[in-house]
Amino acid sequence: MKTIFSGIQPSGTLTLGNYLGAMKHFVELQNDNNCYFCIVDQHAITVPQDRLELRKNIRSLAALYLAVGIDPDKSTLFIQSEVPAHAQLGWIMQCTSYIGELERMTQFKDKSEGKEAVSSALLTYPPLMAADILLYNTDIVPVGEDQKQHLELTRDLAVRFNKKYNDIFTIPEVKIPKVGARIMSLTDPLKKMSKSNPNPKSFISMLDDEKQITKKIKSAVTDSDNEVRYNKEEKPGVANLLSIYSLCSGESIESLEKKYVGKGYGDFKSDVAEAVVNVLKPIQERYHELINSEELDKILDHGAEKANKSAFKMLKKAEKAIGLGRKR
Ligand code: ATP
Ligand code: MG
Repeated sequence: MKTIFSGIQPSGTLTLGNYLGAMKHFVELQNDNNCYFCIVDQHAITVPQDRLELRKNIRSLAALYLAVGIDPDKSTLFIQSEVPAHAQLGWIMQCTSYIGELERMTQFKDKSEGKEAVSSALLTYPPLMAADILLYNTDIVPVGEDQKQHLELTRDLAVRFNKKYNDIFTIPEVKIPKVGARIMSLTDPLKKMSKSNPNPKSFISMLDDEKQITKKIKSAVTDSDNEVRYNKEEKPGVANLLSIYSLCSGESIESLEKKYVGKGYGDFKSDVAEAVVNVLKPIQERYHELINSEELDKILDHGAEKANKSAFKMLKKAEKAIGLGRKR
């Protein structure tokens, strides 16, 4: 049995990109692995957040994890800030990393670009992420493609720590899906879809209703040659819609290309929208049952308790290895 860890930030409502690139795969993994799924609220505050909105997003993300099929009897679902060992080991990992390697991270460059005031935590986000993963002896981290660079850094930091102090950390492997690892923005298909994008037309939220989904897909940026063909370089908008359609319907991209020979984008886009609605509708129904339930709080309490136990042990090992505190 392998240990799996993955986190999602409550930095907005989850998008179809988060679902197809990450969350969808969690459900299968929990059957024969020891899984930890985390709501990484401390990562979310590396950029400004409205207090009430953040609280709402944390709860909403927890309900969405469960609505897609995370089973609390099989997996540990918890909130990062309710397990203090994350921030504590995060500090140690900050002390293990170099400013130069953090400045090279594309997420830091993208999220700080053009901003006047950038928090220092946006730079030190990857050491906290490394701590999240290393606390649980994680073997595998299922994420979208955008997190590959952070995972490589996590591995580097773990190896560095193990060599310098004591061999305590498991070196995690990254697991990126073959299709859907990078769902693109609907308004700019050269950028990835992101829940923190201020333009809601750029993403499909997992809680958008049928009307919103149809409207957003109909106005998705494509091109003018009116041919439904998969070519990421020449036709990034259409390629993105084809990936979404294929993942939501289960039909292969080749068979979808054939289906739309001689047809324009109008029919194609209506069908993409329908396939997305079919996937999201049952998730939304379950979500609405859960969002205000006591069951949700119980699950999160239990998750925090379980996560705290494992995380505390690893934190103590790391502190001992490095020489913090007193000998006991
Ligand atoms: P933010 O804009 O606040 O960074 P985000 O949409 O990038 O939000 P994260 O919480 O950073 O979401 O990432 C959660 C998970 O979703 C990660 O595993 C990440 O790799 C995956 N993911 C994020 N965006 C996409 C995308 N466009 N396509 C596929 N997977 C994605
Ligand atoms: Mg992100």
